[in-house]
Amino acid sequence: MNANPVNDFYAVIAARLDYLEAVPTEVLSTLVTRDGACMWPSGDPAEPEVIGTDSPDRSAAAQICVGCPVQDACLELEFRTAGFATLGVWGGLAEDDRRAACLAWCERRDGGRS
Ligand code: SF4
Repeated sequence: MNANPVNDFYAVIAARLDYLEAVPTEVLSTLVTRDGACMWPSGDPAEPEVIGTDSPDRSAAAQICVGCPVQDACLELEFRTAGFATLGVWGGLAEDDRRAACLAWCERRDGGRS
C-alpha cells in the first residue's frame, strides 16, 4: 500500500481497470467510438474547451465525461494506445492525472499487484 494518498488515488483508478485487461483493443475502440458521450455533438454552446492546462482541463474532463457509460474502456484504451504521450481529456481525467494513473496502471500490468 502506498503511503501517499495521491498515489493511492491513482492506484485505485489503475486497479479499477483490471477487469478490462483481457478485452481486445479493437473491442475497446468499438465501444468507445460507439457509446462515448463525447463522440456525438451535443449542440451545447457552453461545452467546455480543453486547453492543455491542468486545472481547467480537470474541470472540462468532469463536464465532458460525466455520465459517459464507457469511461473505463476509454481510459484503458488510452493507456494502451497513447500511454504517457496522452493529450487532452480521456476517460474522465486531464493529462497529468492520466499520466500518473498510467504509471500505476503500467506497474500493475507488469506484475505489481499486491
Ligand atoms: S470517457 Fe470522456 S473522453 Fe472517453 S468516450 Fe467518454 S466522454 Fe469521451
